[in-house]
Amino acid sequence: MSRATATDLVYLIAIIGFIFALVGLSSPKHARRGNQLGALGMLLAVAWTFSLPAVYSSTRNLTLIVIAVVVGTVIGVPAARLVKMTAMPQMVAIFNGVGGGAAALVSVTEFIALGHGSIAVYKICEILFGVLVGSVSFAGSAIAFAKLQELMTGRPITYPAQQPINAALGLAILVLVVVTIATASTAVLVVVLLLSLVLGIIFVLPVGGADTPVLISLLNAFTGLAVAASGFTLNSNLLIVAGTLVGASGTLLTRLMSVAMGRSLSNILFSAFGSVITATGGTDADGRSVRSGTPQDVGVLLAYARKVAIVPGYGLAVAQGQHAARELADALEARGVKVFYAIHPVAGRMPGHMNVLLAEANVPYDELEEMDQANGELPTTDVALVVGANDTVNPAAENTPGSPIYGMPIIHANEAANVVVMKRSMRPGFAGIDNELLFDTKTTMLFGDAKDTLVKLVAAVKSA
Ligand code: NDP
Repeated sequence: MSRATATDLVYLIAIIGFIFALVGLSSPKHARRGNQLGALGMLLAVAWTFSLPAVYSSTRNLTLIVIAVVVGTVIGVPAARLVKMTAMPQMVAIFNGVGGGAAALVSVTEFIALGHGSIAVYKICEILFGVLVGSVSFAGSAIAFAKLQELMTGRPITYPAQQPINAALGLAILVLVVVTIATASTAVLVVVLLLSLVLGIIFVLPVGGADTPVLISLLNAFTGLAVAASGFTLNSNLLIVAGTLVGASGTLLTRLMSVAMGRSLSNILFSAFGSVITATGGTDADGRSVRSGTPQDVGVLLAYARKVAIVPGYGLAVAQGQHAARELADALEARGVKVFYAIHPVAGRMPGHMNVLLAEANVPYDELEEMDQANGELPTTDVALVVGANDTVNPAAENTPGSPIYGMPIIHANEAANVVVMKRSMRPGFAGIDNELLFDTKTTMLFGDAKDTLVKLVAAVKSA
């Protein structure tokens, strides 16, 4: 077998690994195995690449690749191990961004290596696509990272004539793309790259708040497409397939998240949603105040209930209260109370966040109910215990047409006989808007860190 055939075969095996990785990742039960398969495929592809003559026969190439692998490993491994689950979106943003940047640089390098006059038009188109989309993804992801890491305001940034300015820049890039195709000029290509970086920044500025994770998913899809384009440029089937998989799965995820938030993608990208923060405090606009309780009161309420729904949200992840939540469920079940967890698809900061969090505490899968199923049970539930969730239980999504979250499907915690909301203050959730559920007459607020309060609730239930 020739080396070229062997290479195709090895890369095909790696590709199969990537595809089965995605299959595994589609269910929490097989996610770990899926991840391992993907990593194995990648290891195989990287290791085999070292056996290619273009790599091992050139000391310069080999040295550069080894340096890049070492730098990537030294930064990537500790970053991935130390990142908190709640900071995962910004981690994905920055990793995704460097992928897009790398694809853009590969395209520029290949343009220079192919030599000016002799490049075929289709090759220039592939290169331009990689440069444009990769640069937008790099710059956009860097801004999304800064927003989520609170290095800059996380709110949408708007300025006069924003959309016409974006359109003018897009048009200028288009003209330069045509000029690059006509002249094969490296200087013009570099200007395309620089303007694409600016486009990436101004494209992301008006998106903020709860929409940023959706944007990251979209930029992830962009990176995949840029990588696929550089795969065409380098004649690498591996890069073409891997890039297309990332592009397709990123696009599907973006769509799923938009649907779960009840919004269209164009509304998320262009409406500057969440730029207005509503006033918050212990009273609402009509002067109604909230009712707060103690862990002892709520412990008794829970202990004598027949059915309890735990509605987890981002705050449970921040507090790392998943084990205490499981202990509370165990204590209630020991008393014969039926407990289920009502899972909203975009609770937390990334899809599946609550599933992963609760799986860490070995919560049985059959106790997790997806939104529709949970909503069917809530009218016959005695207590809905909302733990660090806010936007995903906000009735404004259904009954306040002017609200920015109007149209988002929610968990109907308000339909349970009693509602207990656990959070630290009256501050709003990710979308930055008030939540009338907190002012509902059947709601009791339990202020404090979710983990501390859950531990107190366990003690209260056991002694009830
Ligand atoms: P929210 O962000 O709406 O609210 C979380 C609440 O948790 C806050 O009100 C906060 O209140 C409370 N909290 C924070 N820390 C603690 C703590 N240590 N102990 C107790 N409470 C705490 O969360 P949801 O999960 O309900 O909603 C997710 C939001 O993210 C939605 O707006 C959704 O659209 C958005 N989103 C999610 C995506 C996903 O894929 N999951 C993707 C895109 C957007 P306080 O500060 O008073 O404690």
